[in-house]
Amino acid sequence: MTAPRHPALTATDPELASLVAAEEDLQARTLRLIPSENYVSAAVLEASGTVLQNKYSEGYPGRRYYEGQQNIDRVEALAVERAKGLFGVDHANVQPYSGSPANLAVYLAFAKPGDTVMGMALPMGGHLTHGWGVSATGSWFRGVQYGVSADTGLIDYDAVRDLALAERPKIIFCGGTALPRTIDFAAFASIAKEAGSVLVADVAHIAGLIAGGAHPSPVGHVDVVSTTTHKTLRGPRGAMLMCREEHAKAIDKAVFPGLQGGPHNQTTAGIAVALHEAAQPAFTRYAHAVVANAKALAQALLERGFDLVSGGTDNHLVLIDLTGKGVPGKTAAKALDRAGIVVNYNTVPFDPRKPFDPSGIRIGTPSLTSRGLGTAHMPQVAEWISRAVDAAAAGDEPALAAIRAEVADLMAAHPAPGLPLA
Ligand SMILES: *Cc1c(COP(=O)(O)O)cnc(C)c1O
Repeated sequence: MTAPRHPALTATDPELASLVAAEEDLQARTLRLIPSENYVSAAVLEASGTVLQNKYSEGYPGRRYYEGQQNIDRVEALAVERAKGLFGVDHANVQPYSGSPANLAVYLAFAKPGDTVMGMALPMGGHLTHGWGVSATGSWFRGVQYGVSADTGLIDYDAVRDLALAERPKIIFCGGTALPRTIDFAAFASIAKEAGSVLVADVAHIAGLIAGGAHPSPVGHVDVVSTTTHKTLRGPRGAMLMCREEHAKAIDKAVFPGLQGGPHNQTTAGIAVALHEAAQPAFTRYAHAVVANAKALAQALLERGFDLVSGGTDNHLVLIDLTGKGVPGKTAAKALDRAGIVVNYNTVPFDPRKPFDPSGIRIGTPSLTSRGLGTAHMPQVAEWISRAVDAAAAGDEPALAAIRAEVADLMAAHPAPGLPLA
């Protein structure tokens, strides 16, 4: 018998402990290509599981509504200082519980219910919280939406400008969840200025690339930067809002007391550690390796006859249109999962199919790069995807099982940060 990985949890709640252990094994054995996921380091994991959990601290460092903040204030101040240093901003708020509430705080700071707001349409690659109908942001505000052009798959900045000048939105969001190309923050800034709009860059997906210098920064172009901390930035699940000094009060007031109560101090600690890690030279190498891997993977997929939205990628993400392969996105995603390759099905721009069963899959390289895979591995990854999609079309379950075993072998040789070794 080896000692249980989580002894206290195993003693108290063996049922839950076994689920955690099963998830550890699943993450260890499979190849994660979901572009919004990553592996936090053991240090981030430890910081996020501390007794900081036990403390209430409504307010901000030095201005709390509860006593006993001697250490918590310093933890939050550290996270704030590190965010400011890493991204080169005047002000950072590290309290938003996640990306969606961070964006909601932006609405609270700059708009009133019923105001017009503008963002990229969800099926074009935007996020729900950018004014899409089923989101609170689309029902409490009047969302108008831009997309990409049908022939290039790229944002048509002239069309964005026309819409902005016609609608004069209070807030414009740029950024999204399925954009494989570099965002031109300067172009958005000139549009927002002309339209008199507050410009928000939602860099949830690419924050780590920005921190590592592998994607241009929105800082200096936009009013507010919103980001999650758990995607390419490789921190715990959480979010940050960053801005120039002139918006600092409005942002802080919107987060607390506008939208939230006590901050999750254990998460703040994990964010502080992740920001420290992201300031190291190794993280700069990581960010560039993520992009190099995505480009190599895109190339290897093109060579295997895959159709990629916009023809390739500039960042960590590749959006595959499977129409030509004759396999719907959901069927492919589920087959890939059985083959030990974890992706998500996704709409492609102008998708004729329904969002719950769309034409594409979305993949990305942040996680595999965290495990130390490099460009030399990407043809193998593309080959597995190709074989799995063909197997899905043919209903060939043994082929999927064979891939799963091959994937597990490679993953065993590349353990993920933060996971116990098998
Ligand atoms: C992930 C994401 C969010 C939302 O983050 P949650 O933490 O899931 O609420 C918001 N905007 C963009 C662009 C995202 O990619």
